Amino acid sequence: MTTRLWIERPFSAKTGRLEIEIMTNSKKHEYCLICGRLLDNPADPLSGNCGGDCWGCVGAIEAEMGCEESLAYVRKEYEAGLRPGWIDPFKR
Ligand SMILES: [Zn+2]
Repeated sequence: MTTRLWIERPFSAKTGRLEIEIMTNSKKHEYCLICGRLLDNPADPLSGNCGGDCWGCVGAIEAEMGCEESLAYVRKEYEAGLRPGWIDPFKR
């Protein structure tokens, strides 16, 4: 269940490698609280962890709120095809 449990009670001394992977997984696998996306997924450029939510959600919200920096990023990501369906809040 918890990371702590795995550290205190190793899965198996023989499968040290597997054990490390399990520890890493249980520690690192977090999902966006808004959309459920896996966070910090190297294959997903919008999955950066923004305090429990993914950048995909946070960036869009911040852009909508008028955060220029976020809007600039989101526009670029939209142009790159990373945000299909995104609507620029200032270009309606
Ligand atoms: Zn999200």
